[in-house]
Amino acid sequence: MNKDIATPKRTKEILQKYGFSFKKSLGQNFLIDTNVLERIVKAADLKDSSGVIEIGPGIGALTEQIAKRAEKVVAFEIDQRLLPILDETLSPYHHVKVIHRDVLKADVKEVIDEEFDQNKDLAVVANLPYYVTTPILMKLLEEKLPVRTIVVMIQKEVAERIAAEPNSKDYGSLSIATQFYAEAKTVFTVPKSVFVPQPNVDSAILRLTLRDEPPVNVPDETFFFDLVRASFKQRRKTILNNLSQHFNAGKSEIEGYLLEAGIDPKRRGESLSMDEFALLSHRLFVHFPNK
Ligand code: SAM
Repeated sequence: MNKDIATPKRTKEILQKYGFSFKKSLGQNFLIDTNVLERIVKAADLKDSSGVIEIGPGIGALTEQIAKRAEKVVAFEIDQRLLPILDETLSPYHHVKVIHRDVLKADVKEVIDEEFDQNKDLAVVANLPYYVTTPILMKLLEEKLPVRTIVVMIQKEVAERIAAEPNSKDYGSLSIATQFYAEAKTVFTVPKSVFVPQPNVDSAILRLTLRDEPPVNVPDETFFFDLVRASFKQRRKTILNNLSQHFNAGKSEIEGYLLEAGIDPKRRGESLSMDEFALLSHRLFVHFPNK
C-alpha cells in the first residue's frame, strides 16, 4: 500500500514524475499535511453512506482522505494536466469520479442527479482555489443544491468576513449573502506551511450548514441583496446617505422609510442585523419595486 498522497515526500515524487509545474493563475496550492486533511474531513461529519462533491482535487491529497470515509466522491478539476496524475494516485479508490470541468461553468445540480441517489446525504468538501472562492461559494449556495454541508479551506480573511456578526469590522454584504443560505462557522485556521507552494495568506476551514429556509422573509431576493450591498457601499457613511444614493431619492423620503422600519437613519450598515435589512427591504420594495 502506498503512503498517503499528502506526505511531503510522496507529493514531491508525484510532481517530479509528471514534471508538474504549478499554475498560480489556477490557485494551485496543494496540501501536504495529513493531519490537516483529516480535520477538514472530520468537520464535514460524513457517514459511510455519504456522497461528497469536491472542487479542485489537485493530485488527490484531500480526495483520498474523503474517499476513505465516504461512499462516493465526485471531483471537478479544471486542469487537464492533473487528469493522468489523478488516474494513478486515486487508482485504489474505485468510488471516486473525476470530472474535467470548470466548476463555475458546470451544471452541478445535473451532475448530482446523475451521480448520486436521491435523498443521499451530500457534502461539498474542498480546498478551494483562492482566486475564485467567493464566486464558487455563491454559485453553490444560490443554486440551492441538495447538500447538507459545505466544508472548505479558504483564505482566512474571507472566512472571517463570511462568518462575521453585526457590529464587527468583518461584517458586510458577503456575511449576509452567505448567512441567508447557511449557518457559517470558522472551524480552525491553518498556517501557510501546510501547502506547496506556500500561499501568501493564512487559511481557515469554513463550515456552512445549509438552511432549509432562509432565516428572514424578503419581498424579492435580488432587491434584498442589492439593498444590502448598497448599505455597505461606503462603510463610513450612514445608511441614510448610502440608500438615498442607491435609490436616487431625497434624504427626507428615505429617512421616513427608515423610521417606519424602526431604524435610526444615522446608523451605519454594519450595525444592521439581517432581520432589520429584511424589514427595511419590505418597506422600500413598496416604493421602489423596479429598482
Ligand atoms: N485539493 C488539492 C489539495 O488540497 O491539495 C488541490 C487544491 S488547490 C488549492 C485548487 C485546485 O482547484 C487546483 O487543483 C486547481 O487546478 C483547481 N481549480 C482551479 N480553478 C478551478 C475551477 N474553476 N474549477 C475546478 N477546479 C479548479
